[in-house]
Amino acid sequence: MTSSHPDINHKVWANALVALGQQLGQTEVERWFADTQFRGIRNRTATLVVPSRLHSQWIRENHLKELCKVLSVNDCKFIIEEPDELTLEPEDASTIESSAKAPQEAPAKTFKRPSEPIEMPERLVLNKNYVFDNFIVGGANLLAHASALGVAEGKATGFNPLFLHGSVGLGKTHLLQAIAHHRLEKDPGLRIVFLSCEQFVNHFIQALQQGNINTFRKRYRNADMLIVDDIQLLSNKKRTQEEFFHTFNELHNAHKQIVLASDSPPQEISDLQDRLLSRFKWGMVAEISPPEFETRMAILQAKADHIGIELPRDVAHFIAENIDNNVRELEGSLTRVQAMASLCGRRIDLALAKEALASEIRPTGRPIRIDDIMEIICRQHGTKISDLQSKKRSRSIVLPRQIAMFLARQLMPNSSLGEIGGFFGGRDHSTVVHALEKIQDRRRVDSDFTIQLNELERQVRQLSEGK
Ligand code: ADP
Ligand code: MG
Repeated sequence: MTSSHPDINHKVWANALVALGQQLGQTEVERWFADTQFRGIRNRTATLVVPSRLHSQWIRENHLKELCKVLSVNDCKFIIEEPDELTLEPEDASTIESSAKAPQEAPAKTFKRPSEPIEMPERLVLNKNYVFDNFIVGGANLLAHASALGVAEGKATGFNPLFLHGSVGLGKTHLLQAIAHHRLEKDPGLRIVFLSCEQFVNHFIQALQQGNINTFRKRYRNADMLIVDDIQLLSNKKRTQEEFFHTFNELHNAHKQIVLASDSPPQEISDLQDRLLSRFKWGMVAEISPPEFETRMAILQAKADHIGIELPRDVAHFIAENIDNNVRELEGSLTRVQAMASLCGRRIDLALAKEALASEIRPTGRPIRIDDIMEIICRQHGTKISDLQSKKRSRSIVLPRQIAMFLARQLMPNSSLGEIGGFFGGRDHSTVVHALEKIQDRRRVDSDFTIQLNELERQVRQLSEGK
């Protein structure tokens, strides 16, 4: 088959898996590549043995580009390992491409059953605390909250889908669950399908593997309401996007409510089909931003009441001032303060809070500013701030400018896309989106670049901490 030595193959494949892991995520790599054997490279074509036809098709459709890149080849050939024999992949590898007939065409016996079957949860399990009554409303989540409530009360029929987005720990899952609680209170018989995008992907793969795609489809398409959390995980999953698109359409046509949550706005989800992107924007898109100081204080107070502790105002003030962009961390800080008080038998006061949170709090307490990012980028790339802000489009300036925009998005969570564009000579928000996409794309295929970005990020943080 190939002239490569087995030891060398082993090394090449081990490195390839590491690189793939960085680009596709560990779960995806384990799912599709753990049982794949690398047989070597000949004529710039790699040969891989995969456990099922589904593997070869999925990898070909979704990850071929990355795989070729990490192996430095032009193409990959797949050999399908049947339980008792080795068969060559058929010439036409596109038999299941976007076809509803696919699973019937591919006989179920050729698919290896997953070692741990993934259960489809029949009963909806919700967190009893994630209700509207426990959600503190402030300017940063006003629209998201009002839209969610409207949908929960069945009043906002135009908001279909409702698309909530915001970075982690800002209450997206809380609002999704609040909608489900509220709806079920009014109508306990309602069929609400609530799941994370990852579960949807897993169910879909399992249905393909077991050849029961029709049951899968029925389950989703018969829902009265579909709620999917972390929908950004559809990124890069061509086949699942296809399936989700059809599910979406059927439900939408039947006027069933769809609610989605994502860590980024629809247009920033990379590798999302245009038709899904446009559908995600059909109804109401509402952003949740990090809460303002007053809201943070109110959340802390509510949480303290909930767990029954006395929280002095100066302590709440100290926590709210220092933990400013993640409600989950805000709650975590309160728990730490409480734990320290009860472990040491002390009263909750400012000194205790400072001790308990010493490791959480940034040394200077100063947030990262755009000047920090510009300074590091200019130092690294030998450019001038005025160049980054100029209209110049030469490559030596475009790339640093895009990196700077990317870092600003990562490190300045309170700045909107429009504001970031403003820092760079009044560019508009679509230019920033384009820059973010460029950097994301490159990060996926170039691990050295990712390392450089991490280093830049570290330097910016160091600068803002005054080290
Ligand atoms: P996300 O899904 O956006 O990552 P979660 O919904 O899991 O965030 O919220 C993280 C934690 O913060 C949860 O415990 C949630 O109850 C709490 N939380 C977030 N926003 C609020 C809010 N506005 N009022 C009260 N609790 C909140
Ligand atoms: Mg969440």
